[in-house]
Amino acid sequence: MRKGIPVSPGVAVGTAYCIPDIFVDPRGKPLDETEVLPELNRFEAALEATAADLRALYQKVASQVGPSEAEIFRAHEAILHDHSFREKVRDYVVTEKQSASAALRHVMDEYTAIFEKTEDEYLRERLDDVRDVIRRLSGHLSAMLQPGQTPIQGPLIAIAEELLPSHVVALGDLQISGVVTQTGGQTSHAAIIARSRGIPAVTGIRGILRQVATGDMVIVDGRDGHVIFNPDPETEKAYRKLEREFFDLKGHLAENRDHPAVSADGEHIDLLANINNVADCKTAAAMGASGVGLFRTEYLFLTHPDVPDEEEQLTAYRDVIRASPNHRVTIRTLDIGGDKTVPYLGHAREANPFLGWRSIRLSLEHPEFFLTQLRAVLRAAAPEPGVKKNVRLMFPMITTLEELRRVRMIVRRAQNELTAERKPQGEVSIGLMLEVPAAAIMIETFLKNVDYVSVGSNDLVQYLMAADRDNPKVSHLCQPLSPAVLHVLNQVISACRAAGKPVTLCGEMAGAPRAFLLLFGMGLRSFSMSPAFVPVIKDLVSHVTARRAEQIVQTALEFTTSRQIQHYMSEQLREIAPDLSMLESET
Ligand code: PEP
Ligand code: MG
Repeated sequence: MRKGIPVSPGVAVGTAYCIPDIFVDPRGKPLDETEVLPELNRFEAALEATAADLRALYQKVASQVGPSEAEIFRAHEAILHDHSFREKVRDYVVTEKQSASAALRHVMDEYTAIFEKTEDEYLRERLDDVRDVIRRLSGHLSAMLQPGQTPIQGPLIAIAEELLPSHVVALGDLQISGVVTQTGGQTSHAAIIARSRGIPAVTGIRGILRQVATGDMVIVDGRDGHVIFNPDPETEKAYRKLEREFFDLKGHLAENRDHPAVSADGEHIDLLANINNVADCKTAAAMGASGVGLFRTEYLFLTHPDVPDEEEQLTAYRDVIRASPNHRVTIRTLDIGGDKTVPYLGHAREANPFLGWRSIRLSLEHPEFFLTQLRAVLRAAAPEPGVKKNVRLMFPMITTLEELRRVRMIVRRAQNELTAERKPQGEVSIGLMLEVPAAAIMIETFLKNVDYVSVGSNDLVQYLMAADRDNPKVSHLCQPLSPAVLHVLNQVISACRAAGKPVTLCGEMAGAPRAFLLLFGMGLRSFSMSPAFVPVIKDLVSHVTARRAEQIVQTALEFTTSRQIQHYMSEQLREIAPDLSMLESET
């Protein structure tokens, strides 16, 4: 049994499906003499396929973003064609009788050892490029293996070093019922994806891929973060029972999808969904959300083979608007950087990526590219017969008023261009994502310049607590249920209400039962969350009055430690809706 960080609640029992990672030792039993030549041929084919990818990427990025941004792919091609690199890989296959994947890993280790000795930042960044090229090559190698492999039967527990958007695409229709990863915290990709699918997940289990093999039985307990490998029959039986209860509870809650979201004393709340793509919109509708409160557009970019152009973006956004409940969508512009990167928007290694060149800072530095996205959103919002749209534009990580002004100028430019080109466009309201403490402090000033505010509590908490949201070592600090966070949220919500500006919260805490009770008590009435949590919160709010929630807030704000708040909120939740405790990750 191992203990990690519970990031998506519930219990699942299933067969391990290890997502191979080139950077985790893929050494296998030695190849037969007869297998060596075919393996070298496979490597050649992967080299060709990778070179073709890189050339296509160069062309697309050069036309969409700019030639200097595309240069990175020329550099990657040069690495691919490097004679000594190819020879090292071939030599290893021949002499060690290992697969090309194992050879790539070995060569990567060799380069890492050499590069690590250097103090030169430029050279260290080149190591990232080698890693990218090797990852791409290895993707082709494993794709070539696919046809002969028998897919294992679900339900499966996905086990990975880190769950990347590309993995999620590759996993496609496999029946994944749980996720365990080595890296990542409460708001990492793995966590957000698992929560949006309503499946339990645990992160922060170091060395996981060395401990478990595809086909092993695994139990994931997303309530307290336990992961059990190859359990004894008694344990398995007990967890299968819990899994059934979890399933039944989710099924039972989903039955309330057509009921209004209203508290025990008649206060209506707005429950919106966080989505990444059209498939999530369908889940949002099935779960009874009344709209989409956060469309994370970066997934379109992160899962695209190259760069989506304006027409592709237009289609993607329009499809999402059409598929969303009530055609109500808040579209967040590209939020890349920090933990999520695309090579064509800058590749510099940063000492503190979350404090660095990310999100709106990156968009403002690539104004033409940003303009393309804004044009696509405005066009997607254009009226269509029989579809009454309600589209909002939202900008992430705004820190200063100057940024907001520049953003507004670029929006105006996009609107003017479309008018001049006689292309139809829709009305959109403009909102600020409140994620940076500086903006929280200056909230009154910002409120005069936006139509609405959406609190991005995942980032706001990490910046308030100075604790990286993806680093398991500091996850005890990156906690929404802490005194400082609650005080700031209370002030922000009050300021928005006093100014008469709509306010939503779209971080993961909106769908966490204990945190929800506090936000509701602070007067928040609009929440955006992973679709799977919409029925949970709808049920929870029906068991509590606004009056009681206000009293809970009063008490909670008097506590001076996170521990007291968490303990008190667990008690309150058990009193108000005992069944829902199973749906809360206990961090
Ligand atoms: C947030 O920061 O709370 C948020 C919703 O955005 P993301 O998790 O995509 O950074
Ligand atoms: Mg954020």
